[in-house]
Amino acid sequence: MTAMEAKLIDGKQVAKDIKAELKLKIDDLREKGVTPGLAAVLIGDDPASATYVRSKSRACEKIGIYSEVIRRAADIAQDEVSAIVRDLNIRDEIDGILVQSPLPGHLDEFAITLLIDPYKDVDGFHPYNVGMMLTGKPTYLSCTPYGIIELLRRYDINPAGKEVVIMGRSNIVGKPLAAMLMQKQSMANATVTVCHSRTANLAEVCRRADILIAAMGQPQFVTADMVKENAVIIDVGINRIENSSAEKGYRLVGDVDFEACRSKASFITPVPGGVGPMTIAMLLTNTVRSAQRRADRI
Ligand code: NAP
Repeated sequence: MTAMEAKLIDGKQVAKDIKAELKLKIDDLREKGVTPGLAAVLIGDDPASATYVRSKSRACEKIGIYSEVIRRAADIAQDEVSAIVRDLNIRDEIDGILVQSPLPGHLDEFAITLLIDPYKDVDGFHPYNVGMMLTGKPTYLSCTPYGIIELLRRYDINPAGKEVVIMGRSNIVGKPLAAMLMQKQSMANATVTVCHSRTANLAEVCRRADILIAAMGQPQFVTADMVKENAVIIDVGINRIENSSAEKGYRLVGDVDFEACRSKASFITPVPGGVGPMTIAMLLTNTVRSAQRRADRI
């Protein structure tokens, strides 16, 4: 018997729904005199970073969040970046601050993260917020893992009691996602295994997964033989591969061989249009949450 084709997890649509829900909250906040505000600091001229910041800022404007982009040349000194962050920390109309990564090599990114007011750290990267998340008292969850949990929630895929295998242990995806999914709370309670480049018998570990999450940055690495029948596959990877027939000369693929794996899985996220749009949606969610906190103080 041939397996059914996996259901697509449509991150684009879910992100759209979330933004529509946020818009209502924002309208309400604005009526009370609080316009949520997000400031992005963009340093240097990395085209991918510029694209990310542009789409974040456009997404803000579409739903009524004030967006400010602070652009500086790549040779900016650490002190000057610190001064920008300190200024944003004290500006009342700014609810969220993000410093677009990667920063030029001479800048100490961690030191800059430490300077951001944790209550304006809508990326959820400040160690205070990471620690709160780990202890099960989340303030701001970091956006990509938060987006994945939200996708699962909206597709009624409860990770409780499931074997979840996460491929990748970065500070922005693998590690925080593992911590979130192992919490003793709803949309968590999973049995989590985290794999990385030193994992032995990777394919065998992956085959244990009821929910397999690939976040490695390795194009189409996950093949059908690594997937258990009816598994849920979440593909976080965004990789450019050359394609001369595409207008831009490349196309985007995930870390999963989508075509090969979709006939084996029960659910699968596409790339693009899966996890990617959720990251921005959760950034907006965190910003609105921060603005709500400001409104509660008024
Ligand atoms: P990263 O910092 O480069 O981390 C990659 C992780 O994957 C590392 O833990 C690495 O292991 C592991 N890894 C790499 N090759 C492996 C292999 N062959 N076998 C097993 N493990 C392997 O990457 P990241 O920032 O987490 O991003 C991962 C991917 O997600 C990228 O494609 C990125 O573009 C994408 N991403 C997407 C979003 C989104 O919004 N959708 C957001 C963030 C990232 P070691 O630790 O041992 O080196």
